[in-house]
Order: sequence, then C-alpha cells, then structure tokens
Amino acid sequence: MPSQHYDLIVIGAGQGGGPLAGAFARAGRRVALVERVHVGGTCVNEGCSPTKTIIASARVAHLARRAASYGVQVSGDGRRAGGAQADVLVDMNRVHTRKQEIVDSFRSGSERSLASAGVELVRGQARFVGPRTVRVTEDGTADGGEGAARTLSGDLVVLNTGLRAAVPRLQGLDGVPWLTSPSILELTERPEHLVVLGGGYVGLEFAQAFRRFGSRVTVVQRDAQLLPREDADVAEAVANILREEGIDVLISAEADRVVGSEDGIRLTWHALDGDGTERELAGSHLLVATGRVPNTADLGLDVAGIDADARGYVQVNERLETSVPGVYAIGDVKGGPAFTHISYDDFRVLRTNLLEGGVATTTHRLVPYTVFIDPQLGAVGMTEREAREAGKRVRVAKLPMTSVARALEVDETRGFMKAVVDADSGQILGATVLGIEGGEIATLFQIAMMGKLPYTALRDGVFSHPTLAEALNNLFMAMDRAGGGAA
Ligand SMILES: Cc1cc2nc3c(=O)[nH]c(=O)nc-3n(C[C@H](O)[C@H](O)[C@H](O)COP(=O)(O)OP(=O)(O)OC[C@H]3O[C@@H](n4cnc5c(N)ncnc54)[C@H](O)[C@@H]3O)c2cc1C
Repeated sequence: MPSQHYDLIVIGAGQGGGPLAGAFARAGRRVALVERVHVGGTCVNEGCSPTKTIIASARVAHLARRAASYGVQVSGDGRRAGGAQADVLVDMNRVHTRKQEIVDSFRSGSERSLASAGVELVRGQARFVGPRTVRVTEDGTADGGEGAARTLSGDLVVLNTGLRAAVPRLQGLDGVPWLTSPSILELTERPEHLVVLGGGYVGLEFAQAFRRFGSRVTVVQRDAQLLPREDADVAEAVANILREEGIDVLISAEADRVVGSEDGIRLTWHALDGDGTERELAGSHLLVATGRVPNTADLGLDVAGIDADARGYVQVNERLETSVPGVYAIGDVKGGPAFTHISYDDFRVLRTNLLEGGVATTTHRLVPYTVFIDPQLGAVGMTEREAREAGKRVRVAKLPMTSVARALEVDETRGFMKAVVDADSGQILGATVLGIEGGEIATLFQIAMMGKLPYTALRDGVFSHPTLAEALNNLFMAMDRAGGGAA
C-alpha cells in the first residue's frame, strides 16, 4: 500500500489549485489533488466558460435580428409587424451542445495536463481530521459514513474549494422548482418567462442571453441599482441597455414570497421605495442569482484549527497563510474579489513563495473584471465613488461611444468610457468601459496603470486608426478641454 503522505495536498481543482498541483509535481514533489466533482472547478464547468459560450450564441441571435440594418438579409427571415427586427429561431439543443463541447474539451485538457505532470488526482470529498490531515470519502458525503475513504497527510495543504450559489431566505422557495447558475446552463428549452432574482453580474449575463434567445425576462433587484459596486451612472446605463432590449428591470424591489403555479411560479414583491403595496409577477422559470457562499461548512475547519469569518470565508494574510502553519487558502474561498484571474494569481504567489524561495504577496494587485453583458462592462482600479471616498482629488474623463469612430463604423455605439484620474499626480486611478469590447479596452487602462503612466501618455499616444483604442486620445482630450476642475 503506497504511503499516504504527500509534500502537498490541494483540496479543490479550481483555477489556482490545479496549476499549483501541476507546478509542484513538475518540480518533483509528491502531490495529491482532491476534487469532489470536476477538474477545472466552477470556471470551466459552470462559470466563465459555459456562460461565455451561451452568451456568444445569444449575440449571434442579436446580430441576426439586426442584420437588415447593416444591409444584410438573413435567409428566410421575416419582419415583426411594425418592428425593424427580424425574427430568429434559436436551437437551444445546439446552444447546449456547443457549450458542453467546450466545457468537456477544457476539462479534459486540464485532466491531461495534471496527469502528465504526475499529480495524483484523488476523487472525493475532503474533510480535515487533523491540522494537515484530511479524510477523503469517495461518495462525496461529508461524514465519511459510506463509500471508500482514505486518509492523507501533507507537509503543505492548500484550500481551493471555491463558492457555490447562495440560497436566499425567500418564503416558499423550497416548494417550487428554481434554477441556479449551474442548472440554468443545462436547459435545452427556452423559458417562456424567466424571472431573475438578483441584479449582479451572474444574473444580468443570463438575463440578457435568454432575452436574446427569445424569452421574456424580468430582473428583480433589491438594491437601489444593478451591479451595486459600480458608479450610479454606469449602473443606470446598464439598466437602460437591458430595458432597450425588452428586459423588465425592477430596482429596489424586494421579493417577499414565491408559490408554484400551473405555468411555473408566482412571485410576490414590493418596492422598497414605495408604500409597501404587494405586487405579483408570474414566470415560467425562476433563476436565483443572489450571491455565493464559501464551500467550507463541510471541510472540518474547526478540527484543523483553521480560522474562518462568520460567513465561512477562510482567513488568510497577504501571503495566503491561514491560522495553521503549512495550510494556505487560494481563490474565492478566502473572500475578496471572486474571479478566475485572482485565483490564478494566488497560485503565482504560492508558487513564488513555496517553490521558488521568493517573497510574493497579494498586496497592491490590480483587480480587473469584465461583466459579459453586451456591450461588455470592463473595469479596473477605483470607481469614481471609491476614489472620492478614499479622499482623492479626482478628475473624471468620460466619452460616449457615439463619439468613437470605430464604434460608429460597426454600429455598436451603446455605452461610454470613463476614467478617474488623480488630480495631483495625473495617474489613472481606475477606468470603466461600458461599450463594445469593454473588457479589452479596460485592459489598456490597466497596462497604463501597471506602468504608472500619467493620463497624458494615453492622451498623446499614437494608436492605429480606426481602432477602439485610439478613443483614449479623445477621452482625455475631452477631459482637458472641459477644464482642470478637480473635486
Ligand atoms: C455563472 C458564473 C460565471 C462566472 N464568470 C466569470 C468570468 O467571466 N470571469 C471570471 O474571472 N470569473 C467568473 N466567475 C467566477 C469564477 O468561476 C471563480 O472565481 C473561479 O472559478 C475561481 O474559483 P476558485 O479557484 O476559487 O475555485 P473553484 O473554481 O470554485 O473550484 C473549487 C473546486 O473545489 C471543489 N471542492 C469544494 N469543496 C471540496 C471538498 N471538500 N473536497 C473536494 N473538492 C472540493 C469543487 O468541486 C470545485 O471543483 C463566474 C462564476 C459563475 C458562478
């Protein structure tokens, strides 16, 4: 029987855990990677990749409807009475198959890469039975009562167990069928009327995609704006774009209870800024997208002595060390920005410190993200509100996409670019781009921020014409033309 002791045990084959296991194994270390569901974790199997494939299908449907305005007739298309848009037929089975092919290929690619590095993949659910010792049960049950079980110990243990969809306290929810982000991805039929609970990025990406597939869609958001982290002008523009596409967006709307009906569900809600009058909303399907919670309740953290906060997030310092020596946490499970690129950067921190003898930390790293609605919302650094709350003297540059030649040429003029500049140093503090390829353009700002370029370098840079990037000239020229007013 082989020894059950490893140089490294990684729990969870997420976006940081897989690469870390591979790097250690390639360096000749003995590594066990424990995964209870699928290699690749949330991103590959039920997050980034599958959502972006269905969003791509939805965009094609959107463009097909707009084809005539570019002078292109889609064969067999007809016009809706009185409308400019052509009807399109969406084959949800093909949308689903295409999604699954990409998921399968990404997942199997990761599995092959781990195997070739020499990582031992242990299928099952891990639970601490000592500070650096875990019991893995094959059947995925937490108590280890059934199925084969193994006990593994490690010099180092890294937690990469991620998050799962939160279940809101909503009266009646346990009595009706409802969808979460993983289960909505498995639909092979278009919902007649999708009610989306939650106006964060997960809810909005699905809302727009299914609207474009032809569903009626209603978003119910408790906050006073969609995407609560964004500046109000950005959130309002997003709401307008979604409404323009025919999505009903309810803001400051609190869901009170839900009941089943012959056609699906009936949701009772009230406006938080109104007189409390209850209203009812009937839908065929309910998607719950009201946040995510850490996968730690069944990990036995207390047995190992690993500190977590009240919500279950593992507590780490800037070197990703937990309260137990030799135990680390990376990715979403440690709280803070929950993105693939952050989990991957956590992997880099641990690789540097544990394998290469360096001293890396998570301090001062820029956190970019893209919301893959269409047009995209790409962002990096501080929002205007955050910069002001931090006491900075700021100048704000703003340029509508209707002023961007490239956007006009391709007829994708919704949204705007916005940058926040430190009035004293001229450094860019942050940028938000709601517009075509917003994620890519936000990355240009990020590169300037990484190089600590002043805004004038982008204002006066020579960028090829006609690209979206050249609009950075106009964005900052417009700010200077408007005057030096810092506040
Ligand atoms: C719908 C959706 C869309 C998203 N889109 C984007 C996007 O476009 N861009 C982006 O950057 N991020 C996106 N994200 C977030 C992104 O998926 C995560 O931030 C990313 O996967 C990093 O997660 P992680 O590495 O912390 O762990 P995860 O990828 O969540 O992996 C954790 C793994 O641990 C396993 N596990 C948990 N507990 C145990 C246990 N006890 N024993 C064994 N295994 C266990 C799980 O099965 C899972 O495989 C999206 C998320 C969702 C839900």
